[in-house]
Amino acid sequence: MARCPDCGGEVKYKAPFMVCLDCGLSMKRWDFDDTSRKIKEEFRSEIGESNEETERKERQKKRAYHDWIMKKEE
Ligand SMILES: [Zn+2]
Repeated sequence: MARCPDCGGEVKYKAPFMVCLDCGLSMKRWDFDDTSRKIKEEFRSEIGESNEETERKERQKKRAYHDWIMKKEE
């Protein structure tokens, strides 16, 4: 379940935006992924996982997502 980076509320996907049901924050899916990535990075640096490793994993994930979107829009 996606969480709002602002208030932690439930976020629903309403194309092409992610919309927070609690505070109404809306953003494009891509921005949301970017924001949640930053939050994860902060968390991981606290638990000690190297940023390089995290970045590599996230890049792979993002590429997979990008490929999926491209396929969908064909
Ligand atoms: Zn919110």
